[in-house]
Amino acid sequence: MGTDAAVTELMTAKGHEQVVFVADARSGLRAVIAVHSTALGPSLGGIRFWRYPSEHDAVVDALRLSEAMSLKAAAAGLHQGGGKAVVLVDDPDALRTDALLRAMGRAIDDLGGRYIAAEDVGATPHDMQVIASETPWVTGLEGPGGSGDPSPMTAYGVVRAMGAVLEELDGDAAFAGKRVVVDGVGHVGTHLARLLAEADARVAVADVNRERVDVLVQEIGAEPLPVEGALEEACDILAPCALGGVLNEKTIPRLQCRAVCGAANNQLAEASDDDALAERGILYAPDFVVNAGGIINLAEEFVGYDRDNARKRTARIADTVRRVFDLARTEHVPPGRAAEQLARRRIAEAGAGRRFRPGDPAAWTHGAPLRSLRPA
Ligand code: NAD
Repeated sequence: MGTDAAVTELMTAKGHEQVVFVADARSGLRAVIAVHSTALGPSLGGIRFWRYPSEHDAVVDALRLSEAMSLKAAAAGLHQGGGKAVVLVDDPDALRTDALLRAMGRAIDDLGGRYIAAEDVGATPHDMQVIASETPWVTGLEGPGGSGDPSPMTAYGVVRAMGAVLEELDGDAAFAGKRVVVDGVGHVGTHLARLLAEADARVAVADVNRERVDVLVQEIGAEPLPVEGALEEACDILAPCALGGVLNEKTIPRLQCRAVCGAANNQLAEASDDDALAERGILYAPDFVVNAGGIINLAEEFVGYDRDNARKRTARIADTVRRVFDLARTEHVPPGRAAEQLARRRIAEAGAGRRFRPGDPAAWTHGAPLRSLRPA
């Protein structure tokens, strides 16, 4: 089916529960909230402020991203579903009025917790605070009860995932002497490089922002790499931590790594690139399993945020990666597809047609009782 199909057709194709169109004439707000699944719990996902060529493009993006959130939450073993909100703006970097943000907050509030918001591309901490002034259904805020910046936890999860990758490659999770290339040393990549250096890996880093590379050269003795060619370095693990789509028909034939395991979202340009990596004998740890530390950290807010508990749950990413590799072996599929199977199976096991309903206390006990986010 083409993406120009009717919205309800697109929803049916991927099993979306609900799409809400939001407009507020006074503030100029135009937004789409997509709830893919609440079978495992309330849907959780970021708010993206983006300039879309058309409203239909915004809907297609919200549908795609909300489904991806369902799979990420399910694979991570969370009692959350997948949702996403997109706000149509002319300039994602321009300041937004409080009136527009408040109207968005009210629209989220109307869903009674079926969609729980977090920060995403284009959103600022200030935006999220203003939205949160209208609704309790917002996660990831700074301050008491909030989990704050997720990137250190995301990096920690990536390291644990890499441990499982090394076990699969060499039967031993030790990093000593292993060469890891971190491509993109922003929020997650910088934390990741530090953790790898602490574990005695040989760390090489690349970034279009040279200052970020220099900091790591000084601080941990990382080897600096030019951006062009970083993906093609011979190494044990390549960790894409910048943009999506880096594993594609052009790059895959040139890779010289034994495995790929990084934080970037949507690393595979096409689903078939999963097969292409397997054919080259490169072990791919699926991105949405590897980078789940951020969402695991957010979900911890639902039971009263505790950093140590969030770390313990994030460490289990290594178990999930092992299960994915096992399933890939037994089902003779590449790891990306195995991870998707694992996630879809968990959603299906929660019960066909199971829905989170606002105010239904039983729904909350399905996971753990909500605390910090329960409306007063
Ligand atoms: P970030 O913007 O802080 O860092 C990205 C870095 O990549 C920047 O330093 C940027 O200069 C660099 N970069 C951009 N283009 C590049 C290129 N062509 N080659 C090399 N470097 C390049 O973002 P982040 O929060 O660190 O997230 C990194 C990736 O991980 C993103 O794909 C994000 O969606 C994903 N992710 C992040 C989190 C999180 O907790 N922050 C959680 C899950 C997934």
